[in-house]
Amino acid sequence: MKLTDLNSHGGIGSNSLLMEMGPFRFVVDAGLHPKLAGKEAMPDFDRVAVDSLDFIILTHCHLDHLGSLPVLSREQPDAPVFLSRPSQSLAKRMMMNSINVMKRQRGELNLPEYPLYSRNDVKRLTDRFRPIGFRKAHYFEKDGEQLEIAFQPAGHVAGAVSCRITRDNGESVFFSGDLLFNEQRTLKGAKPEPEGVDVLVLETTRGATPRKEGITRESEIERLLDEIRKPIDKGGSCLIPVFALGRMQEMLVILDQARKDGRLPQCPVFCSGLGMSIVDFYHEISKFSSQLNFDRKVLRSLGVLPLPNHMEPGRQPGINGIYLVSSGMVVNHTPSYRVAASLLGDDRNSILFVGYCDPDTPGGKLLEKRNGEEFLFEAIDYVTQIKARIRQFDMSGHADRNELLELANRASPRTIVLHHGDPEAREWFAEELSQASYQPEIIDPVPGKTYEF
Ligand SMILES: [Zn+2]
Ligand SMILES: [Zn+2]
Repeated sequence: MKLTDLNSHGGIGSNSLLMEMGPFRFVVDAGLHPKLAGKEAMPDFDRVAVDSLDFIILTHCHLDHLGSLPVLSREQPDAPVFLSRPSQSLAKRMMMNSINVMKRQRGELNLPEYPLYSRNDVKRLTDRFRPIGFRKAHYFEKDGEQLEIAFQPAGHVAGAVSCRITRDNGESVFFSGDLLFNEQRTLKGAKPEPEGVDVLVLETTRGATPRKEGITRESEIERLLDEIRKPIDKGGSCLIPVFALGRMQEMLVILDQARKDGRLPQCPVFCSGLGMSIVDFYHEISKFSSQLNFDRKVLRSLGVLPLPNHMEPGRQPGINGIYLVSSGMVVNHTPSYRVAASLLGDDRNSILFVGYCDPDTPGGKLLEKRNGEEFLFEAIDYVTQIKARIRQFDMSGHADRNELLELANRASPRTIVLHHGDPEAREWFAEELSQASYQPEIIDPVPGKTYEF
């Protein structure tokens, strides 16, 4: 078996792995780096000869896994793309949105190569989608040999899968994908079965984050609801920056239940953008997926309003309320960026982060600052003193490191490939796994290098 990490920059970037198992060649995921732009953000597809793949696997629809799939697929016109049915529903919407963002960035960032793909590329790609259900493995044949491809639910977001691939000589590999064991309000937790596998490709996102004693997802939700009430009681507003796929829908359900329990004050809730169309997709997917439980009635029940057109930096919004908008990391020019610029300079307001923020993004930079310090909104050339209350809550979409360690120990593979994590996160796993009784070979792949095991 051979593996090449095509993610040129390492870390959590443009996820993409080239695999070779006997006569079979395939790629798992084709993402775009969330922090980079242009060709820099792409995986190194030069290492994959045109028309050389037998198939492609998509684990889920976050852009760090999906964002460059139309480019890869354009060069691999005969390769079917295996994915879950919910991912089949979501992928097109996510990619179309990505095209719009790239078109806007073309001028802003002077990137003539943008957009990296067209609507027609997306159309041709979706024609190659071959959905696989959770209960039934798919068999792929070539040169008289056979591969079994089996998906298992991975929690995380709707449609996310772990994938187990077995060759007919018994050789096997398990890709964890992005994984969450915890039950969410909208989505069941993962129950992966990696037992007896030869090679485990393990996500390591939270390797540098110790589990905090006494803190659970539910206790964090309680703390969040307490913090939401504070600005509303003071006559201010509250910004909750969220990822459009998954987190916005989860937060809508949390807010709706809290309001029904009398735990959330009566106030307007504003939502906008891609997350709102994902609401419709989640509603439809719930009808056929036993993993997902979501009804768009939640919008009416909460009285959700569209984001006001005019929000000005340093000026309190016309109507105070809860602003549940993307992006989760308050990236330049997104609705959460605009709302943050409006709210940050007033001590009646709060900004409450419910997910991970990369330290290089505006959200990450804001989290490192203290109250009273100045903050620069670079993209709009606006500086303000930080007066709003800023808090972060641990409601990660990823399994904690001890759970992943337990998963690895349960699998007891001969080789473990560390994946989807920053260097410190991978280091922690390498150290812990080196002490395992089954003595696995541990590979932290150098981008572009081919490993044989
Ligand atoms: Zn993800
Ligand atoms: Zn990811």
